[in-house]
Amino acid sequence: MGQHTRRALIRAGAVASAAALYPAPASAAAPASCPPPLGPVSVRPGDPRYADLVRRGNRRFVGTPDEVRVVGSTGQVVEAVRDAVRQGWRLAVRGGGHCFEGFVDDPAVRLVIDLSGLTGVYRDPARSAFAVEAGATLGEVYRRLYLGWGVTLPGGSCPGVGIGGHAAGGGYGRLSRLHGLVADHLYAVEVVVVDQAGTARAVVATREPGDPHRDLWWAHTGGGGGTFGVVTRYWFRSLPRPPARVLTFTVTWPWEGLDEPGFHRLAANFGAWCARHSTPGAPENRLYSELILSRRTLGGHTLVGQVAGGDERLFDAHLAALGAGVGVTPSVTRETLPWLAATLGSESDDGKGWRLKVKSGFQRGPLTGRQIAAAYHHLTRTDYDAPAGSLSLNTYGGAVNAVPPTATASAQRDATMLLFYLAGWTDPAEDDRHLAWIREFYAGMYAEEGGVPPAGAYINYPDVDLAGGSTPWPDVYFGPNAARLRRVKARWDPRNVFHHALSVPSEG
Ligand SMILES: Cc1cc2nc3c(=O)[nH]c(=O)nc-3n(C[C@H](O)[C@H](O)[C@H](O)COP(=O)(O)OP(=O)(O)OC[C@H]3O[C@@H](n4cnc5c(N)ncnc54)[C@H](O)[C@@H]3O)c2cc1C
Repeated sequence: MGQHTRRALIRAGAVASAAALYPAPASAAAPASCPPPLGPVSVRPGDPRYADLVRRGNRRFVGTPDEVRVVGSTGQVVEAVRDAVRQGWRLAVRGGGHCFEGFVDDPAVRLVIDLSGLTGVYRDPARSAFAVEAGATLGEVYRRLYLGWGVTLPGGSCPGVGIGGHAAGGGYGRLSRLHGLVADHLYAVEVVVVDQAGTARAVVATREPGDPHRDLWWAHTGGGGGTFGVVTRYWFRSLPRPPARVLTFTVTWPWEGLDEPGFHRLAANFGAWCARHSTPGAPENRLYSELILSRRTLGGHTLVGQVAGGDERLFDAHLAALGAGVGVTPSVTRETLPWLAATLGSESDDGKGWRLKVKSGFQRGPLTGRQIAAAYHHLTRTDYDAPAGSLSLNTYGGAVNAVPPTATASAQRDATMLLFYLAGWTDPAEDDRHLAWIREFYAGMYAEEGGVPPAGAYINYPDVDLAGGSTPWPDVYFGPNAARLRRVKARWDPRNVFHHALSVPSEG
């Protein structure tokens, strides 16, 4: 979050300095004498733990590294990186294992640094900030920050996602329209980097204007994981207090009885609502929702979301606006829950049982009639079937759009929706036809824009197909920040030790 936004939000009373509001309880500060860290544990093929460690994510990708090194301290990460560089091994780092592409599981990777032992969450008085170690999952981060200090990060809705990749890619979730991206709260980052001589060392980079490492901090506010080094720790400031309770809701419009004009109305209504209610500071930013437009064979379209604070009238108005003219009656369930229960409620919803392919697109304003027609076609095609196939329209904007596009590396600051395309299946023999379907769907949605979303795509929903397109992929993900990210890459990873199909390329 940029300075001017933070000031505006503090004036509005929405965000306070965590240091001022929540002095660390003596017992909750980083303990003076900590137990020894987990690791390093070297796991090689043949070790019974190997199979668990090489398949921690999307079922489409299972790695074959010579070694997985489970680490529990920054020093252990420095050593692991040093070992890989010395041996000339390609390395990759795993945080929560929720990557949608095979960056960590690439067959060329020979050492995977697994951060499972690096999971601390504590207040760091020296930096007046909350320290979150890079192997922690979002669920654990939410639980610890809230129970310890009454604050949270406005991050993603899947508790199993790791903060390691999530924060570096921006990180948005149910509270982002109120409080911005996770990266907007990033004060500092500790990264193990490798210099031109091949020496690995840990560097702390802050957003302080005079910090000579500031560009490395900036790159971690949206440049994506696996590009500059291994993040071992993040420090966050200005963390918001979540609402004590939220109204959660699930609404389903059945396909049965829904004709093409009704489908158009539903998709158009959602986009129009987002366009009207996504300016920073708008009261409607308390509402977050996703309209999951699903393939006809899956039965219906589902709206899920929450209203911070529990205002039923806001949800009722949202529902009425979305349903106007649709022509079928939806089923509706709603429940008011304490915030943490609602937030951790989807703990098992991690998609890891599936072979997945996703794509994304930021959207300024509603979908066009042509786009809705393309969506209708691909969701109702009878020459294709799938266990899971959908286009989710997510509310976006609000506080996210109060930050200038270049203040952080997360450039997309004028979108009102984030589109998430998903194909999910289980049988490896079916890969080709599901990949073909989602590629055709995406191409159809942006047929008049050269095949890519004009408002950009989200690096935390990486899609290697974009690397082969006619538009340079860094422009799609990073917009006006692409050139600066290349310079940061050249400075901090001159040997390109950290790379994958969508890591920032070096300058030139
Ligand atoms: C089920 C599911 C739900 C999701 N929901 C949301 C959501 O609500 N909002 C949202 O914004 N995103 C969401 N995501 C996307 C998620 O933010 C990204 O996939 C994120 O990169 C995952 O981070 P990870 O550490 O879990 O994954 P990993 O697979 O461990 O890492 C992802 C990438 O980041 C790199 N990386 C990880 N840790 C580090 C580190 N410490 N230092 C350097 N690089 C690192 C990896 O090398 C890899 O390239 C979701 C993903 C899934 C699978």
